[in-house]
Order: sequence, then structure tokens, then C-alpha cells
Amino acid sequence: MSTSFVIPSRCTLCPRRCGADRAAGRTGYCGAGGTLKVARAALHFWEEPCISGTRGSGTVFFSGCALQCCYCQNYPISAQCFGKEVTVERLAQIFLDLQAQGAHNINLVTPGQWQPWIIAALTLARDAGLDLPIVCNTGGYETPDSIRRWQGFIDIWLADLKYVSPALSAEMSAAPDYFAVAKQAIEAIMAQTGRPVYGPDGMLRRGVILRHLALPGHIDDSFRVLDQMAAWNDADPGCLVPSIMSQYTPFYKAAEHGIGRRITTYEYRRVVNYAVDKGLTSGFMQQKSSAREEYTPAFDLTGV
Ligand code: SF4
Repeated sequence: MSTSFVIPSRCTLCPRRCGADRAAGRTGYCGAGGTLKVARAALHFWEEPCISGTRGSGTVFFSGCALQCCYCQNYPISAQCFGKEVTVERLAQIFLDLQAQGAHNINLVTPGQWQPWIIAALTLARDAGLDLPIVCNTGGYETPDSIRRWQGFIDIWLADLKYVSPALSAEMSAAPDYFAVAKQAIEAIMAQTGRPVYGPDGMLRRGVILRHLALPGHIDDSFRVLDQMAAWNDADPGCLVPSIMSQYTPFYKAAEHGIGRRITTYEYRRVVNYAVDKGLTSGFMQQKSSAREEYTPAFDLTGV
């Protein structure tokens, strides 16, 4: 079994298309270089219930991130690229270890900048008996080519739709093109994955959970995000599972960008009520108590 894959010499894996020569060991805008880095691999119990179930989601956190949001709760790994260098063979074994621990699925967190390595590892792991659904947990900032290359490897997308306003996405993620890119990406993943399919145990086997994290002081933009989700749902009812999240916590550089507090109960209620008014009723919302730092896993190289 070959594990060969091509390390980009002019990287265009994500919409930044920064052109880093990763084959020569250079790091790109996302912080990723020429050797795969993983920060944590463990069962995770705080995703949506149809992902975490009773035994947990087999979650693998990859180092680096194309988006670099100023409030990232995982900023030690996304922005500071914390992690350990591993081979694709080791990553395949990590997937198999999570399956042996009883994981309902394998949950790849921010995998886009490592796509060639991960596809090679998934291929190896499948040949060695991995048969769990594979989840791609993404900020929604993906190229059409990247989504095409994931076809046949990803069963479930946990995708964000973060912003509509170009000014807001420029401020928070230095990505004024965020909405244009994410809209196209989400339409591509819905076309690729199809409608949600559940197993007899109620666990999601296939489909798209579309998440929105409501930000303090920016619920007007949340309403525009929900307008877009509702437009997709109206055109094809039940095509996605909406998930409206209240867990925003002002990590990292959030205060410098005017979001240095948690969302209020009033703000979150208004966002949820707007979603209900728009017909986005069969999905998930969080208890406000989710906005606590203990829901953020410690990044200590567990399982790596
Ligand atoms: S994945 Fe990283 S290195 Fe590749 S284009 Fe995007 S930012 Fe640059």
C-alpha cells in the first residue's frame, strides 16, 4: 500500500492561495509547513448530540488554520500552530486507536491545510479496517477544488457560516471574501453529501450540519446569516441541519476587535427567535451555559 502524496510547492489548498513552498518546508499564511502537525486526538463529547452520541466523537485537532479568526477558542493550535509532527502512518494509527476506543466517528478539526496528508492517512486506515463516518469540521472557508478532492473521504460536514458582511469578516478573520467563498463552498458540500441520513441509533451518518456562532454586538449580521440558511432550507426543506451556537467566549485577540465580552441572553434569544421565525426549527441550539471555558479542550498532545 503506497502512502505517496504530493506536498504542495506552491500551495493553493485554501482560498488564501498564498503559494507557500511547503515542499521546501516553508510555512504559509495558515502556519502549516511541510510536515503534518496534530495537536490532540481524543474522544470529544461536546459536539451536537448526533455527532457526540454516548461514546464521543473521535476528534483530531490539526495545527494551523487558513482563517485565523481573532477570537479563536483554539488559538494555541490554529494561530500559534501548537502540535506535534507526525507521519501519515501515525495519523492512520491515531484514527484506528479512536475507533478502538469506541468513537462514533472520526472528526477532523480544521483539516484543510493538511488535505493531501490526511487523505493518504485515511486511505491507509481504511485498508486496515477503519469504517467509521468521517466528519470534516471546517470554518466554511474552502475552495471548490478542495471540496472536490474530499469526495469519497468525507461523510459529514460540520461547517460554519460565520458572517455575511465583508467588513465584519475582514475585521474578525482578515477575509473580506468570506461570505462569497463560504456560500459557494456550502452549496458544493450540500450537493456532494446530500440530505442528512441517520443510523438506527440516531447518529448522523451523512449530511451537513451548518453552524453559526452568534457574536456579541453583531446579531444583525447573524440575522443575515440565518436569512441565507433559511433560503437554502426553503428551496429544499431539510437539506441541512442548522446549529445556532451561544458558546462564544472572548479568547485570543477578541477584545482588540470590539468583541471582548460574551453574548448576552437577550442577544442569543433574539437570534434563536429569528431562526424559528424563518422556519429553521429542526436543528440545534445551545444552552447559554455552554459559554464556559471548560468546553474548550486543553491542548496537551493527548492521543498524538
Ligand atoms: S493552506 Fe496554508 S499554505 Fe496553503 S494556500 Fe492556504 S494559507 Fe497558504
